[in-house]
Amino acid sequence: MRLNVTNHDRDSANLRYVYPVISRRAGGVSIGVNLNTNNACNFRCVYCQVPGLVRGKAPQVDVELLRAELRAMLRDVVHGDFMERCVPEGVRRFNDVAFSGNGEPTSSPKFLEAVTVVKEVLEEFDQVGKVQIILITNGSLTDRPEVERGIQLMQAINGRVWFKLDSATRAGALAINDSKASVPARLERLERVARLCPTWIQTCLFARSGQPPDETELGAYEDVVRRLRDAGVPIQGVLLYSLARPSLQPEAPELSRLDAAWLEAFAERLRRIPLEVRVTP
Ligand code: SF4
Repeated sequence: MRLNVTNHDRDSANLRYVYPVISRRAGGVSIGVNLNTNNACNFRCVYCQVPGLVRGKAPQVDVELLRAELRAMLRDVVHGDFMERCVPEGVRRFNDVAFSGNGEPTSSPKFLEAVTVVKEVLEEFDQVGKVQIILITNGSLTDRPEVERGIQLMQAINGRVWFKLDSATRAGALAINDSKASVPARLERLERVARLCPTWIQTCLFARSGQPPDETELGAYEDVVRRLRDAGVPIQGVLLYSLARPSLQPEAPELSRLDAAWLEAFAERLRRIPLEVRVTP
């Protein structure tokens, strides 16, 4: 196996829960943890790249198998020849462990246990504080007590949350994420998470039927981020990106990428709030 930035096949290591990828955003190796082995999510984003996505929640997790897989992967990455064997020169750096699977990780009944396993295995390999633990979440379930406890635990081990906010309007979230949650409810969850663990807002922007997001959408987004900032919510910044790989949803033919110049122009607007904004076209 030789990894590249487009090989995000979760079966690439032939493991159930753990998969290595090269993260173009991070410029290094990310070890993904997929708790949604049933390809189930409580959102249905039009740009989603999960094959055979179904509506639902993550299944039960064999926590000891997760531990064994993570141990085997870290043994290879930290002490073995994984980097030389599988990773191109220039990105041979172990960057993070990311809860980022084929669905919403916090819908797992074992989310808290899974974070605990990651913490314990990273401690075994003396990697706490050296790599980040990233939770990539749509944020819809983060106010559940056991999810909050998992996020608190992440904070103690160099954790980061990437909280999805693709639109700051109810109509936009419905059209993009098929989510009926109100904007205030989403912002309340975002604020709670940001106060528990360093949190970045992650936003996917794209054109639909050739049209980029309109001024109503962009203005609402800017306004919401500004209000969070003014209210002292400790948001680390915003991660803006567009479609890196094709959607596997029926809407795929309608969607197209926005180029780096478009994303940078919007990023500049947000930076004037002021706010840190990172762009990955
Ligand atoms: S939240 Fe993530 S996994 Fe769920 S539908 Fe959206 S892109 Fe897919």
